[in-house]
Amino acid sequence: MKDKEEMHAYSRAIETIESARHITVTGHLNPDADALGTALGLWWILKDLGKRVDVLFVTRPLPQALSFLPGYGKIKHALHPKSDLLVSVDCGSFDRLGIERPEGMMLINIDHHQSNTRYGDIDLVEPHFASASETAFKLVAAAGWDVPKNGAVNFYAALVSDTGFFGYEGVGPRVFDFAKTLLSLGADAEWTARMLRENQPLSKLRLLPMALETLTLHLGGRVAGLEVTERMLKKSGATVNETDDMVNYARSLATVEVGFLTREEPDGGIKVSLRSKSVVDVAKIAASFGGGGHIRAAGFTVYGMERDVLVDRLLNMIKKELQQ
Ligand code: AMP
Ligand code: MN
Ligand code: MN
Repeated sequence: MKDKEEMHAYSRAIETIESARHITVTGHLNPDADALGTALGLWWILKDLGKRVDVLFVTRPLPQALSFLPGYGKIKHALHPKSDLLVSVDCGSFDRLGIERPEGMMLINIDHHQSNTRYGDIDLVEPHFASASETAFKLVAAAGWDVPKNGAVNFYAALVSDTGFFGYEGVGPRVFDFAKTLLSLGADAEWTARMLRENQPLSKLRLLPMALETLTLHLGGRVAGLEVTERMLKKSGATVNETDDMVNYARSLATVEVGFLTREEPDGGIKVSLRSKSVVDVAKIAASFGGGGHIRAAGFTVYGMERDVLVDRLLNMIKKELQQ
């Protein structure tokens, strides 16, 4: 966004929020810590402004491992009929919210996905930001709204999670300044790290060896693939969101540039997660399959395609990208 246009979007968002009565904050389906933490962070902040605010996520069940986020227990699963403003966070396209938009309801889109389709009436999209909580905080800071401790705790968890504990591309002084601000506002680094890394359900660890067993190398070891089947989920008792970071094992190998994980969905689809290290733009590949994401982390879901066919197509695309 150009500076002037951008400030205009932020001031319009501030005015719209300040004049709304009943705000619903929502985020993408199968939410991760960024979607939940950004939405819940805004919930605490907007509540302090004296607004009626709901946090809405239609996915059920929500990831139990993220129940440490303050306010998690208050999350709603249906849109309140009196709500007069929708705020979406961490969501690249409207369909990924999984809701119908009531006619005439304003929508503010707060995000950081490169693939964002600008589906809001007001779009605050910062593709270079490390988490949606950074975009949300830019708005909050521009408005001068107070950030209570629980708001900072949520925004910090969102930031830590989406930056891979400050290890991904795009982490620089701005991100650490933001982290410092959140810690000054009451977020706790040790507690957040413990909650995100050492608060896992047993089912997730039971699923891991089954998934690792499927590890397959392609293209001379530059690509590694993993598979999670419905049977594995059933056997381990894991829920779908418990596969969320498993794709990182594929990328963790020394020779690998691109790691992918396929997961069988209950509706017959195959969900694909893609991760790259430093060369391949996986957002571009995901987009060609109808999905999206970021340059080094993206995903998509396909229907009516066998896994073998899917993997062949995927490898062809990755091969082309690797040759460039
Ligand atoms: P995942 O593989 O689900 O962890 O997703 C990696 C990144 O890509 C996240 O930022 C997601 O929001 C995004 N993403 C995943 N699936 C899709 C999709 N179907 N459409 C758009 N973005 C997606
Ligand atoms: Mn997300
Ligand atoms: Mn995010």
